[in-house]
Order: sequence, then C-alpha cells, then structure tokens
Amino acid sequence: TNHNLYAALRAGFPAELDSAAIETETGLVYSWRDIEQGSAMLANLLASLEIEPGSRVAAHTDKSVEALLLYLACLRAGFVYLPLNNAYQSSELDYFIGNAEPAVVVCSGRNFGWLSKLAFQRGVRHVFTLDDDRSGSLLERASHFGQQHEVVSRAADDLAAILYTSGTTGRSKGAMLSHGNLLSNARTLHAYWDWRADDVLIHALPIFHVHGLFVASHGALLAGAKMLWLSKFEPKAVIERLPRATVFMGVPTLYVRLLQEAGLTRELCARMRLFVSGSAPLLIETFRDWQRRTGHVILERYGMSETVMLSSNPCRAEDGERVGGTVGPALPGIGIRIVDDRDAALPAGETGPVQVSGPNVFGGYWRMPEKTAEEFVADAAGRRWFRTGDVGRLDERGYLSIVGRSKDLIITGGYNVYPAEIEGMLNELPGVAESAVIGVPHADFGEAVVAVVVAKAGAQPDEAALVATLKSRIAGYKVPKRVLVASDLPRNAMGKVQKNLLREQHKALFT
Ligand code: ATP
Ligand code: MG
Repeated sequence: TNHNLYAALRAGFPAELDSAAIETETGLVYSWRDIEQGSAMLANLLASLEIEPGSRVAAHTDKSVEALLLYLACLRAGFVYLPLNNAYQSSELDYFIGNAEPAVVVCSGRNFGWLSKLAFQRGVRHVFTLDDDRSGSLLERASHFGQQHEVVSRAADDLAAILYTSGTTGRSKGAMLSHGNLLSNARTLHAYWDWRADDVLIHALPIFHVHGLFVASHGALLAGAKMLWLSKFEPKAVIERLPRATVFMGVPTLYVRLLQEAGLTRELCARMRLFVSGSAPLLIETFRDWQRRTGHVILERYGMSETVMLSSNPCRAEDGERVGGTVGPALPGIGIRIVDDRDAALPAGETGPVQVSGPNVFGGYWRMPEKTAEEFVADAAGRRWFRTGDVGRLDERGYLSIVGRSKDLIITGGYNVYPAEIEGMLNELPGVAESAVIGVPHADFGEAVVAVVVAKAGAQPDEAALVATLKSRIAGYKVPKRVLVASDLPRNAMGKVQKNLLREQHKALFT
C-alpha cells in the first residue's frame, strides 16, 4: 500500500469536491477540487525539475493558501518539505540552506534579491517566488502544467518534512519527520479531538511550524472540514469569525490578546466546541479568565517539532476532565515516562526528565548523527525513548505537568529549582502580569535564583514585598535572590520566552 500522507489526507476530502474548503480574509473561496488540482499542478512542476527523489524544497514565504498547496505538492511528488520561519533573515537562511542543501527554494518576491544570491552560491539550482496575493514565478510556471497528478508511492518511513526546531535553547536542529510519523499523529488527533466534517477551523497560526502546519491543517484536511484562513493573527478578525467556527488553535499569547478584546463574549462562542492551546505554557490565569469570559475550558496539549503531539487534555467528557496547568495524559499509542538520572522510570508524583516513544517520534536530526544518538535511549525491552529536553511530572491519573526545560533547571547550593513552580506563584501575586525565573552565576551558590517580572498595566510591583510573600510560602533556597522588573520578556517568533537571552543579560548580576 501507498503510505504517502497526501493520499490519506485526500481520502478525507468530502465527496462533494466543489464545496468550500478554505475561505480567506480577502474573500477567496477554495474548493476541495482547487486543493486537489492546485497541489497537482505544483507537484507536476516539481517533478519536471528532474531533481532527485528525497530532495528538499525549502519555503521561506508569507502565509498563503498557495504555500499550503506547495507543502501538499511536495508530499504528493515525494519531495521533502522544509518550511522556514519567514522572520528569519540572511544569516539564519545561510545556516539553514547550507545545512539542508535544498534543491529548490521558494521565497517571497521582496526577498528574492538577497536570498536567490545566497541560494545560488550554495548550489541551489531552482529559486522561485511566491507572494500572498497569488503572484510570483512559482504559480506562473505551475500554470503550464496539468491538473492531474498521480500521488507517488511512499513507504511509511520515507521522509516527508524537515522541521527546524524553534531555537529556544540553542541553534535550531532539523527534525526529520516521515510520512508515517505525520499520518499516525494526524489520525490519533482526529479521533481524540473528535474531528468532524462539519467542523470549521479558524486557522490563524503560521504554517512554518508544527502547530499551524501539522496539527491545524492536517486536522481540517483529514476531516474534510472547512478552514477560515487568516494570513496573520489579528484579534478582531478572529472575533468576527468565532460565531461561524467550531475549532480554534492558538499559542498562549493569542489567548491573552483575545481576552483584551471587549467583544469576546459567551454568545460569540456559542457554536464553538474546541479551543486548543500549546507550543508554550498556558498561564493558569489565562485558562481561568477564558472559562469565565467564554464558558469554554481551553484544551492544553503538548508536543514538539521532533514528535508532533504527545499528550492532550481530553476533548470528550467521557475521556476525563481538562485540568488547567497540565498538558493531559499521553495520547493513545504514545508512551510518556519520567526518568531519573540513569534513565530509569520514576513513579507518579516524581519530577524528572520527560522521555517519549511512539510511531510519531521522528527518525533523527538532519545531518547530526551524534546528537541523534545522544537523544535516544533503549529500555530493557528494546523500546526506543526520545529525551524531550523537558522536565515534568505525571500524576496518579497519568496527567503530565511540564515544569520547565532541562536546560532551564537551576541548581543553587546543590538544590534543584524548577523555574515553573516559582513563576506560577509569582504570576498570582498582585501587580505581576508574567515572570521568568532563571539561574545566574553566583560565587557561593553556583547559581542564584533570579526572577524577571513584567508588571500589570499601572502596577508597580515591589521587590521586597514579592520576596517576603514568597518566603512565607516556599523553601528559602527557591526564593529569588533578586526580582527584577522589566517592560516585557524576550520571545522568539513562536512566542516562547528566550531564557538564554535573559541569562546572558543578567550574567554579571552578582559579580
Ligand atoms: P529548540 O529545541 O530549538 O530549543 P523548541 O524546543 O522551543 O526549540 P519546538 O519544537 O518548536 O522548539 O517547541 C517544543 C517545545 O515547546 C517543547 O519541548 C516544550 O518545551 C514547549 N511546549 C510545547 N507545548 C507546550 C505546553 N503546552 N506547555 C509547555 N511547554 C510546551
Ligand atoms: Mg526543543
């Protein structure tokens, strides 16, 4: 059988191919037939380039439906899709293109000058442009090709995409995901989240990352469900579409921004059945505020570029309740364990590194065999576990809580401090909007706990008062030696707090 992911997605399209599949904010409506034929034309163009099977096709484009069709075309034609964050500039692109050696680069017209030069210097033979108004050389060329294309046969472990990680903890690594990895996860989420053909998804996330490209798009395509497509997240545009929608997916900052809109009401969300959050920790305050304002309990889930989705709070009531501050139990078919420093599984309630295994877990990092070998460990039964780099805890019911990243763990005077615990407390204190807790070099303690807090509008949190409150609630070694007030926290393009930058900024605090 053919394990090509596109063939499986295509099988989910409705029988009525002329019905609406995607509606854009500019009023364009793409039918299911448009998706099938548009991706076929692009696949025919790619096939005509006479590049080797398995060649990478890099996309550094603005979000558009055609950019999604390019992804589907790569799947169909058997090439490896390599999406790149469109915020990346020349030094980043030089690294990615040098590292991935794509055969084809597709970029927006405004970047063609510098990017094509860089690509040609790196030996790329084909550079096309694609803009978000359906212009550019890619579509011009594709228009000369036929609308029929036979989906090429792929094995489950053939590469479908390389996703570079967000670079939160260091240089981005290319995660190699196969057709089988992506399809197993899409099917698991389809069932667990109860996707239906009459769902309507508000697609407001970028498509260069797992969340928007895989979780959101695969979900809708496999279900044959309509997407209301936004090329950028804009709170008012989401609010306007909520009455017609049933599913929304966002990173936590999107929920925070939606809550700032007076127009967000319970009535508006009457048809909605599912709000999903992930990619970064959702503050319990946001979780509660959302429930108060809309009557809906946000479903938080956990995943990463290397594995797509790993755990999720339940969707259906019979699968259990959604618990704020947790990322839910492991998804069906996926193993999650907490281990000690010898990779032995720990019982419920213990905190430690999170390891995972399952059909969704990637094959390895692109051209980093040593790094790949380091990040996998086999158990006594020969099962392969991947070290996620996150630290967490499972409760008696199997619900996972993420307490931070291994690299952010603070060791002060020989004691382990998990930043998320302190951050959770600080965020509940008066005047604090959000916080980041880091370890900073210290002569006596090795590392000292330091908190950077952002004040709520109009508030002026007092360092001594915050420290005094924490002292009455947690062990002394966990209490920050300093609480610094900042106007905001540094975040990368995915809205993740960049603690490495904070550590760098404050490294001389105690010297
Ligand atoms: P890099 O690996 O390059 O440092 P990154 O890990 O941020 O970057 P991604 O693969 O985009 O790159 O993000 C995965 C990470 O996001 C997870 O390892 C986890 O730390 C975090 N994450 C995802 N979902 C959640 C969640 N619901 N709660 C807390 N953290 C989450
Ligand atoms: Mg990571």
